[in-house]
Amino acid sequence: MTRFVFITGGVLSSLGKGLAAASIGYLLKMRGLAVTFLKLDPYINIDPGTMSPFQHGEVFVTEDGAESDLDLGHYERFTDVEMGRVNNATTGQIYHRVITRERMGDYLGGTVQVIPHITDEIKNRIRTVAHGVDVAIIEVGGTVGDIESLPFLEAARQFRHDLPPGTVVYIHLTYVPFIAAAGEVKTKPTQHSVRALRDVGIQADVLLCRTDRPIPLELKRKISLFCDVKEEAVITAMDVESIYEVPLFLHQEGLDRILVRYLHLDAGEPELTDWKELVRRIKEPDAAVRIGVVGKYVSLKDSYKSLHEAFVHAGVANRARVDLEYIDSETLETMDQTGLADRLSAFDGIMVPGGFGERGIEGKISAIEYARRSHVPFFGICLGMQVAIIEFARHVCGLQEASSSEFSPQTPHPVVHLLTEQQGVNEKGGTMRLGSWPCQLREGTRARSTYSVGEIQERHRHRYELNNAYVALFEKMGMIVSGRTPKRDLAEIVEIPDHPWFVGCQFHPEFRSRPRRAHPLFRDFVGACLAAAAQRRPAL
Ligand code: GLN
Repeated sequence: MTRFVFITGGVLSSLGKGLAAASIGYLLKMRGLAVTFLKLDPYINIDPGTMSPFQHGEVFVTEDGAESDLDLGHYERFTDVEMGRVNNATTGQIYHRVITRERMGDYLGGTVQVIPHITDEIKNRIRTVAHGVDVAIIEVGGTVGDIESLPFLEAARQFRHDLPPGTVVYIHLTYVPFIAAAGEVKTKPTQHSVRALRDVGIQADVLLCRTDRPIPLELKRKISLFCDVKEEAVITAMDVESIYEVPLFLHQEGLDRILVRYLHLDAGEPELTDWKELVRRIKEPDAAVRIGVVGKYVSLKDSYKSLHEAFVHAGVANRARVDLEYIDSETLETMDQTGLADRLSAFDGIMVPGGFGERGIEGKISAIEYARRSHVPFFGICLGMQVAIIEFARHVCGLQEASSSEFSPQTPHPVVHLLTEQQGVNEKGGTMRLGSWPCQLREGTRARSTYSVGEIQERHRHRYELNNAYVALFEKMGMIVSGRTPKRDLAEIVEIPDHPWFVGCQFHPEFRSRPRRAHPLFRDFVGACLAAAAQRRPAL
């Protein structure tokens, strides 16, 4: 019988509920259990695909093409369990389904209400995702006390009522701050938060206490007593240097042992040697590289979450630390050649990630021109590839006004354009080229040797494409197409063979990178940056 672990958050947001959920999933999987996840998001959008990364951080794309919450990225990276459309539900989706059913007459004669109709639909989503696994980990978005998440909490509460004892565990992530003026850590916010959870009928079984220092035993006892949680289940979730340390820390605190016991699961001890080695490699690199990430959403780190992690993984594969500096591309637009070279010369490699809209495009073009001319390794993802194509068309092929029809609908040279089937599409949600597409790699190219296979699958999220009409010209001038999707004959990878490392891809490789299986493109890009760094700073 499937067990359910509900994770709620209290006191404030950003305590790392997603990472806690992912870590628990990892530990249980290492104990031989089959796990899955469901992220419940309280907003009314159907999915985060229409939200600005400034507001909501990265949109994580799954194999099956769902535009989903970035916590699904943590789940995949920590457990290697493939997530999809079913693993993220929003208030918008739940209401949409209930209202659609109401219009179909499914509730004929009844008054459609939050309880039971909305809560039943939430419970259906939970049961669907949980089918066939040992443990389903359900992360409730938002903070306890928010109006928006109440139906999710009510559905979570009903699970304990509906199922036999020992089937459901409630974990509450809370905050235990150190107050400098008092010189001590304070438990009151946790007490209040546990009480708020009780108000909606949920008694926490386990508390994860986020803190910047160890919680003394007597304070754990106090929390245990006031919150009515067993002392062993008051778990310190201390700040750690690397997110990949979180599962090891929680294991030391006994969390997975307690969960297995509370849920009456028959599970062995977890084998954590590989993961410990991963953490050791992250913390003890042999070398370092500096990479400039020239983008638009630089003020919120969450906007490039998977990208950031893919670089951590690539660093591990190269036994190096990757120092990323996020550069707002607009700030490059007012610089002359000397200013630009001064700003960018500190980097061993330049990356231009995905993005939308016109703002900052010219700054990205300047950064790419600098990387191309100075033979600095360059990696462009999605919009980054499209802008590299525009730069090449303008400065190498002499098409001064080349652009993408995304920013310049009237350009005489739409080197990046909309396919006809996209031209009539007005709806914004879920209408891009999304999810996993096959890509065939051309013999003799960098892409082919990097992947060392002939065909790959990668995840997409974009509307615009390289215009095939210009490919012959680009290839003649030194930029080749090294990957194409066979289904539609679309260019997926471009590269400049006569450059130390210059690759652009139309897909988002960052979503498929794993801590112990760095993505080949990130791995080799970081390798090229290391080589460039060694040349610039020869060993003594
Ligand atoms: N804006 C571009 C497009 O829609 C690129 C999207 C992206 O970088 N994800 O094609």
